[in-house]
Amino acid sequence: MGRLDGKVALISGGARGQGATEAKLLAREGAKVAFGDILDDDGKKTEAEIRELGGEATYYHLNVTVEDNWRSVVEQVESRYGKLNILVNNAGILIRRSIEEMTEEEWDRIMGVNAKGVFLGTKHAIPAMRRAGGGSIVNISSTAGLVGSPGTTSAYAATKGAVRLFTKATAIQHAKDNIRCNSVHPGPVKTDMIRDTLEDPELLKIRMNRLPLGRAAEPEEIAYGVLYLASDESSFVTGSELVIDGGTTAE
Ligand code: NAD
Repeated sequence: MGRLDGKVALISGGARGQGATEAKLLAREGAKVAFGDILDDDGKKTEAEIRELGGEATYYHLNVTVEDNWRSVVEQVESRYGKLNILVNNAGILIRRSIEEMTEEEWDRIMGVNAKGVFLGTKHAIPAMRRAGGGSIVNISSTAGLVGSPGTTSAYAATKGAVRLFTKATAIQHAKDNIRCNSVHPGPVKTDMIRDTLEDPELLKIRMNRLPLGRAAEPEEIAYGVLYLASDESSFVTGSELVIDGGTTAE
């Protein structure tokens, strides 16, 4: 028996990285998984990999900043799989820039994907979850949404802080609908997003010095937290923050 048998999940930014790992894990635990991204070739590849392993998954083109994309994908998920129980707002981008160097266009772009994308996904999933009798929304924030950092990630931190508190607002407003909402706060994870740091020995050393476990996470180590929050095992958990960061914010 899988931990998500009978559930239908939608994951944004699922073509690669943590989103693809979450899609694979949720499918392995019995969920029917819909996932979206703007990287259509990678998305189709991930869909084929999940199906080859006997999981049920469908890839959709989904730009999280476009409201019509969300409307259409949620409609297609309900029509294909009959309902929606789980939303993982995972899509995100990182733009490293000092405050003085960051352009207005870059600020709007990162806010658009990381903050507005979470709002739009939540807005369109809620009616579907209400029709399903309830649901679980998991928002991927970051340690950057909890504490400041000396790097050039001020805009990224602003987006991830927004996700943290939008999560709590969602949890409070929609508890009456039996919809839970929690945020996940990973430390550094081995994906393309931080490839520059992972491949630069100097940068990596500075980053790892601030990390008690002394290494970046494998995507699976984050996906297991998402699985817990998505499943009924966390039925009394809402508005909370699951920190998976190798001890970074403990110091
Ligand atoms: P990643 O870059 O490998 O994956 C991000 C995914 O989001 C990609 O597939 C990308 O195409 C997709 N995406 C970007 N813009 C999109 C858009 N407009 N519409 C739809 N999809 C879009 O990085 P990742 O590490 O897998 O990131 C997943 C989440 O984890 C992000 O929210 C990120 O901010 C967060 N996070 C990452 C780290 C890390 O160290 N990698 C740490 C903490 C939090």
